[in-house]
Amino acid sequence: MDFVGSHILSVDQFARADIEHIFRVADDMQPYADRDRVTRVLQGAILSNMFFEPSTRTRISFGSAFNMLGGEVRETTEVAASSLTKGESLYDTARVLSGYSDVIVMRHPEAGSVAEFAKASRVPVINAGDGPNEHPSQALLDLYTIRKEMESRGRAIDDLRIALVGDLRYGRAVHSLCKLLALFEHVHYKLVSPPELSLPADIVDSLKAAGHDVREHHELETGIDHVDILYVTRTQEERFPDQDEADRYRGLFRVNQAIYTKNCEPNTVIMHPLPRDSRAQAQELDDDLIENPNLAIFRQTDNGVLIRMALFALVLDVADQVHNHAQPVTWYTAKRFR
Ligand code: ASP
Repeated sequence: MDFVGSHILSVDQFARADIEHIFRVADDMQPYADRDRVTRVLQGAILSNMFFEPSTRTRISFGSAFNMLGGEVRETTEVAASSLTKGESLYDTARVLSGYSDVIVMRHPEAGSVAEFAKASRVPVINAGDGPNEHPSQALLDLYTIRKEMESRGRAIDDLRIALVGDLRYGRAVHSLCKLLALFEHVHYKLVSPPELSLPADIVDSLKAAGHDVREHHELETGIDHVDILYVTRTQEERFPDQDEADRYRGLFRVNQAIYTKNCEPNTVIMHPLPRDSRAQAQELDDDLIENPNLAIFRQTDNGVLIRMALFALVLDVADQVHNHAQPVTWYTAKRFR
């Protein structure tokens, strides 16, 4: 695809070659994310970071990624503080805000809302999560992490065996990741969820139609054996019609060190889009896994900045100029990533 000036709304936009292109640019961003160098390639550019749903990682990593390329960030973090509460349409908001920014990142609770907003925007819009639908940048950073983890084991993404565990119905990160993985060869998906929280049928059908091996499991133990990647998710309680229903699923599938040791192959990579629910009644990914070297959750979050820098660089057409605007860092930097 031609990234320049494009909206990034769904992983359906990407072909395998596009993913590889994004990953090459992300690799180039490492010295800037590591604070070995700074670049001012986006000096003067403005990002409107609009989050109409709670977010910590996604919002701050998009903002930091833009800052690391030298740009300025303006944030809107509450619907209550925006004109949407006065009945303003997404169309009007998009027309107005796109006059004030060079690129917009948006998260919104309704499926399809970011695409609707993008239709009226005069600048590129990146979907940072539209309700239960999609979360493309999360899926890209997850896949980038999978690629790195598999490379360190002498493997590629092709022939991957992955178990996706938890709320597969409302988990937008899972929806986008499943679709993105389907661009590779011979992926084996184990979908592990209560029957009511299964992956939407249209996504299951598309994975099968692309020739992949897809199996559904309703028991944790049989679902997580013989895989390379164990991708655990939180019950998306904010998407349930009522709290009682959400409570029924909390804590149903919990992965801890003992369960991992008993059921998983020794080097199985453990991933989670975060936040993990660390309340005692949930613990879908137990805190006792923290010393497990295969726990990749914080490598995922570090990779998120690289992927988001790459998306900005591609959409704003500066990917090949980043190094021309680079300087050494002049302040103290802890070697956080070593
Ligand atoms: N942070 C991810 C999302 O925004 C996953 C989650 O919230 O559980 O979809």
